[in-house]
Amino acid sequence: MKNEQISDLQFLKGVGPRRAKALNESGIITIQDLVYYFPRSYIARDEAKTISQIFQEIANEQRLQSQQIFDFTLRKEYTLICKITMKQVRQFSRKKLLQLTIYDGSSRFGKINFWNRIEFFEKLYQSGQYIVVSGIPEIDYSVLTFTHPEIEIIEPDEMEHFQKGAILPKYRITDAMRRAGLTMNQMRSIIRNAIANFTEFEETLPTQYRDMLKFPSIYDTIRALHFPNSPEELSAARYRVKFEEFFFYQLLLNLNKKKIQASERGVVIPAKSTLARSLYNTLPFTLTNAQKGVIREICDDFASSRPMNRLLQGDVGSGKTIVALLTMLIAIDAGYQVAIMAPTEILAEQHFLSFKKFIENASLDIEIVQVVSGQKASLRRQIFGDISSGKAKIIVGTHALFQNDIPFNKLAYVIIDEQHRFGVGQRAELIEIARKSLGCENISPHILVMSATPIPRTLTMTAYGELDVSIINELPKNRKPILTKVAFDDARDEIYEFVRSEIKKGRQAYIVYPLVEKSEKLELKAATEHFEYIQKEIFPEFACGLLHGQMFWYEKEEAMQKFAAGQFQILVATTVIEVGIDVPNATIMLIEDAERFGLSQLHQLRGRVGRGDEQSYCILLTKDKFKNKLKNADDSERLAALVRLRTMEQTTNGFEIAEVDLKLRGPGDILGKRQSGLPEFKYADLVEDREILEAARTFAANIIADDPNLSKPENRVLKYQIEQKFTSSENYYGIA
Ligand code: ADP
Ligand code: MG
Repeated sequence: MKNEQISDLQFLKGVGPRRAKALNESGIITIQDLVYYFPRSYIARDEAKTISQIFQEIANEQRLQSQQIFDFTLRKEYTLICKITMKQVRQFSRKKLLQLTIYDGSSRFGKINFWNRIEFFEKLYQSGQYIVVSGIPEIDYSVLTFTHPEIEIIEPDEMEHFQKGAILPKYRITDAMRRAGLTMNQMRSIIRNAIANFTEFEETLPTQYRDMLKFPSIYDTIRALHFPNSPEELSAARYRVKFEEFFFYQLLLNLNKKKIQASERGVVIPAKSTLARSLYNTLPFTLTNAQKGVIREICDDFASSRPMNRLLQGDVGSGKTIVALLTMLIAIDAGYQVAIMAPTEILAEQHFLSFKKFIENASLDIEIVQVVSGQKASLRRQIFGDISSGKAKIIVGTHALFQNDIPFNKLAYVIIDEQHRFGVGQRAELIEIARKSLGCENISPHILVMSATPIPRTLTMTAYGELDVSIINELPKNRKPILTKVAFDDARDEIYEFVRSEIKKGRQAYIVYPLVEKSEKLELKAATEHFEYIQKEIFPEFACGLLHGQMFWYEKEEAMQKFAAGQFQILVATTVIEVGIDVPNATIMLIEDAERFGLSQLHQLRGRVGRGDEQSYCILLTKDKFKNKLKNADDSERLAALVRLRTMEQTTNGFEIAEVDLKLRGPGDILGKRQSGLPEFKYADLVEDREILEAARTFAANIIADDPNLSKPENRVLKYQIEQKFTSSENYYGIA
């Protein structure tokens, strides 16, 4: 079915061996590849703006910006069609500048500056040429100015297309292509020719679905992507490729999910539990409705005969841990062992201690053990003994839980806390461990993944698309909203005074600062110095503790415990405390050099306070220079920093913060590039194309609900496409 025979790219009109080689280097091997080499952008007469329009827009934006700091539309790329009216080389003391003056008939002139490769550009561009300029301009002495923009010289015959209002494709031309003499113009005609002669367009969607979705045929889609006759045609074609890209991935996720449901059985656990009931009755608070709702969802999964695969999302401090504990007790009551994995040793320790406390308060007789690295061999032996005999019911630990050969005994429920990614691969490992302990081949444990902070919905749907999702969207009632304030260096003394007055009232404070040193040794030094400065110079009357990443886990634990016990009033820390730490009496989070932290980091840090009944404060201390509003649009890093800080001031809602973060950083950075397991979307964008994703997801789910193995004849094309696309991917669970 594949079009191997058409791999002879070099015989295509206008290509030849040299250019074919250059194309090969960019991954264009076959004519099919060439046809699928979609434009990066387009030049449309209608969309191109005039110099005076662009000037006006930028001037307006700058005015808006001086009034309000939020603006994501900055650094926009513009395209304009103009004529070179003058060429000038100017000599500065040390540098030369090549300057083109451009004009397009509107009320202003513009300029293009070149600081590098001047001789090359000087030869290339001549007065009188028509050019298409794309780039991010700025206003320089009241003249719209581009610096090293992308420029394309338009040939006279192409000018005709423009007169007729055509939309011309712009392709990515690599250096290799350029060296082989492939200009944009030639790419266009080669591709135009290829499309006209290529006959083997494989339809990727069944006709009936294409009709339902009102999609153009694959041929029309591809043709319109390269040479659209109208903006409408182009957007229909773009919609189809984006939709398809999301759709096939969603189809895969749904297939995986169905496969799990069909081939694996879950341990049936009845919801009735006296253990959970007794603990519930002794809780010092009442559960929020959202917490109760999630517990109900988990119980429904337990009682069904299929394994739970659930993601629990809740804002920082929304009380996920108690949900974990109560549901663990339900499983224990049914005679099973449960395990919870935390990302760090401090957190594992904290869970261990807090579970113990809850259990003792309820006078329950349940053994809970901890598996972390660095435990003495004799202690390990005893713990392992209790695990294997089934005496130990709750096993708390770090990754070590699933790496060491721990002799679990009837492990039926596994919780993964503060996790950002949980893929098919990790699940498979867990299942194997649990099965061994259950002595049963096709039974799978119930798995609950708890996320560290809210994740934007588009990411949840892709990175966690196989999981059912539960959301805790309300904070416990006793919480007062944390007051957040951005402050500048010049207010430092005042702020330390404020911290002092709060501590005198009996509260505790975190003082966090970023580590920017290149080496661990320097980091250690910086951490220690800062700690001494705070302890000796600023707060000599209080006991300060230090917590940083270079400490041994038991040292960290000791510092945490002393802080939790009130022996330290202040904990000077690096981001080690970022995740999960729970000390309700701490009401101040002072973050120094706050502009250096990411948004979700700031949100996590702030989540360390506001956990008790008292009013809490988050102070984001930053440099004086951030006080000044931005004057020009090009300082995007500073702008992003300001957006982060002001967002923190304006909202405490983690779900809202997550959306802003997604816009600022993009999906890969949020989930962590490598371990995110996010597929690379070539055409679709998780920020921009959310609605398309929703539509594709629903469509895919409906198909799988109707035909779980894609075995109906009309779905054969889909099955084939999935196999083509994903067989070698780590997310592939196989089609039955
Ligand atoms: P997270 O969801 O960030 O993991 P935790 O589970 O650590 O949050 O809960 C934060 C704090 O809130 C803990 O001290 C916990 O005991 C407490 N808590 C949990 N649920 C409630 C509730 N319904 N009412 C009051 N406090 C609660
Ligand atoms: Mg937590």
